[in-house]
Amino acid sequence: MNGRALTIGSMVSLTEVIGSTTLQQYCPLLPLCAAKTATPSVRNRGTLVGNLAWADPASQLAVAALAIGAVLRIGRAARSAWWRQQSFFLRPIEPPSPQTR
Ligand SMILES: Cc1cc2nc3c(=O)[nH]c(=O)nc-3n(C[C@H](O)[C@H](O)[C@H](O)COP(=O)(O)OP(=O)(O)OC[C@H]3O[C@@H](n4cnc5c(N)ncnc54)[C@H](O)[C@@H]3O)c2cc1C
Repeated sequence: MNGRALTIGSMVSLTEVIGSTTLQQYCPLLPLCAAKTATPSVRNRGTLVGNLAWADPASQLAVAALAIGAVLRIGRAARSAWWRQQSFFLRPIEPPSPQTR
């Protein structure tokens, strides 16, 4: 947490999203939607970022990310780009790569 911004890394599982007291306090929509996603075993392995990167139009988390005005950082540390969630999904199951920006 940095001021009014929350940063969630790419290795954070859906189970960790659900259990995060910080998210429960400041952004309860994400844990709520993560808890409605898939099954416990999928949530233990699957990540929030993996779910968003998959760009499934049926994803509760994609809708939640839109609702909270999420911004996604894509790429590697030295060369990355920031995307607003609303411009991230071009088509179902087709997120952009930084090269297609
Ligand atoms: C039985 C079952 C039920 C499910 N039900 C739901 C549901 O109800 N709602 C829902 O929204 N989803 C559902 N899912 C989808 C599930 O939530 C996602 O498959 C899971 O979140 C993917 O996460 P992952 O981290 O394993 O990603 P992966 O499967 O490893 O990756 C998914 C895609 O994202 C890319 N990717 C992953 N991480 C990164 C990264 N850090 N940077 C760039 N690209 C990345 C991968 O290359 C791949 O293309 C279900 C899945 C299963 C198997």
